[in-house]
Amino acid sequence: MIRKPELLNQSDILSGLNTILDELGIDYEEDNNCFFMRCPIHDGNKRTAVTIYKNSGYWSCFTGDCSSKYGHSLFGFIRGCLTAKNTGQHPIYNGTVLAGYTSDFIRSLINVGTVAQKEPDYLKGRSIKDKKGQISIDHIRKRLIIPSRYYLERGFSAEVLDRFHVGDCWTKGKPLCGRSVFPI
Ligand SMILES: [Zn+2]
Repeated sequence: MIRKPELLNQSDILSGLNTILDELGIDYEEDNNCFFMRCPIHDGNKRTAVTIYKNSGYWSCFTGDCSSKYGHSLFGFIRGCLTAKNTGQHPIYNGTVLAGYTSDFIRSLINVGTVAQKEPDYLKGRSIKDKKGQISIDHIRKRLIIPSRYYLERGFSAEVLDRFHVGDCWTKGKPLCGRSVFPI
């Protein structure tokens, strides 16, 4: 029987991420804000192709776009890594390791809780506008990767970028995709 995938607590996965990366045999570098590594999923050569943000667990593959395929959660990242490793230990169906096997793998390494599956706000028909009729900053922040990697690499501090909501947009099909965004 295929179990319904659970939503594992992202911050639990984040706190055990070193253990998970070691188990996956992934070499990585880290600073205060991010983990960096060659993309283990598409097996690229660029040493900073994958960035995982420590404040959110959000990750992106900037050279192979693997994050669009597996989703930007850490769960998606680990699922992609298991799929790419293809050890036979985690059988592959329709080209991907099942969510249940991914979750078993994570649970075998770290203590991780689950969170209730929540409908995204935009599905509840809730207004994205605040009381003044403006689109709320929370709504914008959810669609950006904050802090902007582009500006981090140019010497701006994560704190300042966070305070002014400066992020990069990687939502496919959005007019600002691939650009840095300053909500004003
Ligand atoms: Zn990749």
